[in-house]
Amino acid sequence: MTQHTAHKFEALLDKHHLKKTAPRLKVLSMLSAKNVATSQPDLEGVMADIDRVTLYRILNAFEEKGIIHKVFDLNGTANYAMCSSNCEENHHHDEHLHFNCTSCNNVYCLDELEIPDLHLPKGFKPDGFTLYATGLCPKCNKVVAKAR
Ligand SMILES: [Zn+2]
Ligand SMILES: [Zn+2]
Ligand SMILES: [Zn+2]
Repeated sequence: MTQHTAHKFEALLDKHHLKKTAPRLKVLSMLSAKNVATSQPDLEGVMADIDRVTLYRILNAFEEKGIIHKVFDLNGTANYAMCSSNCEENHHHDEHLHFNCTSCNNVYCLDELEIPDLHLPKGFKPDGFTLYATGLCPKCNKVVAKAR
């Protein structure tokens, strides 16, 4: 973690009135270092010094505060990804396309692809929308990547 990103994460915790603990900073740096959503078992694997309960609490608190959002992959496993800056406490705006690779099972946040305004039939009051695409990610779809 560079000095700059460390400051950025500390500021983020400050903003949400969360104490700046080492495990919290570590989870933030882990999640933001990757461009794919990360599951709790994956996080556990790389953070042997943080116990499960602590990790679970950190993820829950971050989700509540609008710092990270949860995405389920094709197997129903919860994955976590950093939120864009317009998420607020108890109010997420993560209505972007999620791409679940069927080969490596990684879940990508495609922030640039926002879910358009969908007008539901009368009487339906949605809390949010989830849109998934499945297929091969650039890493697994090597044929196309090589051809470029
Ligand atoms: Zn969010
Ligand atoms: Zn893949
Ligand atoms: Zn996302």
